[in-house]
Amino acid sequence: MKVTSVEIWDCNTSLPFHHPVIIRINTDEGISGLGEVGLAYGTGHSAGAYFVKNLAESFILGADPLKSEKLWDTLFRNTFWAQGGGPVVFGAISAIDIACWDIKGKTFNQPIYQLLGGKTNEKLCTYASQIQFGWDTDSLKRLGRPEEYAAAALAAVNEGYQAIKVDPLTFDEHGLRLQNLNRILPNYLHRMVYKRIKAIREAVGEEIDILIELHASTNVTGAIQIGRVLDEFGCLFIEEGVHYLNPALQKKMSRRLKTPMAAGERIYTRWGFRPYLENQSLDLLQPDLCLAGGLTEGKKICDYAQIYDLTVQLHVCGSPISTAAALQLEAVIPNFQIHEHHVVALKSANRELCIPDYQPNQGYFVTPDSPGLGIELNEPVLQKSPHIIVQ
Ligand code: MG
Repeated sequence: MKVTSVEIWDCNTSLPFHHPVIIRINTDEGISGLGEVGLAYGTGHSAGAYFVKNLAESFILGADPLKSEKLWDTLFRNTFWAQGGGPVVFGAISAIDIACWDIKGKTFNQPIYQLLGGKTNEKLCTYASQIQFGWDTDSLKRLGRPEEYAAAALAAVNEGYQAIKVDPLTFDEHGLRLQNLNRILPNYLHRMVYKRIKAIREAVGEEIDILIELHASTNVTGAIQIGRVLDEFGCLFIEEGVHYLNPALQKKMSRRLKTPMAAGERIYTRWGFRPYLENQSLDLLQPDLCLAGGLTEGKKICDYAQIYDLTVQLHVCGSPISTAAALQLEAVIPNFQIHEHHVVALKSANRELCIPDYQPNQGYFVTPDSPGLGIELNEPVLQKSPHIIVQ
């Protein structure tokens, strides 16, 4: 089997700050595979799209997509930049790797999970993620008052979710984006966070898990302050209290707080996770398959995490392809903790990119049994976005 062309869509959607980069690898046997560069948010999606173009021109055209391990190693060793890490390089490598696994699944007429070890987890407990944007199918909200946080959490719980995640420091009381959080945080912010989480806890009761997201917007001192304010609520974990460029920061935060620590969505490959595993500062890893190196590297990271007694929640915030890829691996790994369903995944502008539209039922996903990823493009929708073909 040989790759005959690689297509790249640098998607425009009607959602603000949501630009999934979707790729399709086509072969001489008529089988195609889908992948995604995990740069839908933040800044840099077009860089990811063009890195896939460069990789396609230099390495992928004419290659055998079934030799995904060899291809991964070639991209790691021979692109010069991959051996330094980073989201653009590894986002592109991840997209190609996931597309190769989709082709592999379709070639052998099996879902990817069967090729990775079979189903360990029949049902995947799923949480409602980032409820500071509300929890509904309408446009993204900017929640301010504690009652609004309580209502959004309750909306998710009423759909069957047993866990919700919130960043209590994204917006101020008026719904405006908070700035300058990387300092010792003043008391009014402690009180604001406390009231929001207290309102959520009172609304959803003691049986529902609350997950705290900080998006590395705090510095280590502020993250510890917020963690202590929230001690009484028994949160499942605190995510990304600090950034990743000095692993000693996470170590300091973990030592000072009781709540378990989660991070990983901006870490690439096993080598990137290594200092966090060795310093034992995390309790749960959150690799993003569309950034950390695809399914090939993602499986290895999950297995590596097991040596340190860590569970995994794959980070998912992209097109339906990112969800489909995560479901395949999460079905397999024994150290699966929970699946992330981002509020963006509820919006029609994201859902319409692919067919079928996988959504959880009563707070649980079941990994689909169709060959490969089990998902295809909704091409009329993608035609609205810039399209690159390398052939
Ligand atoms: Mg996060």
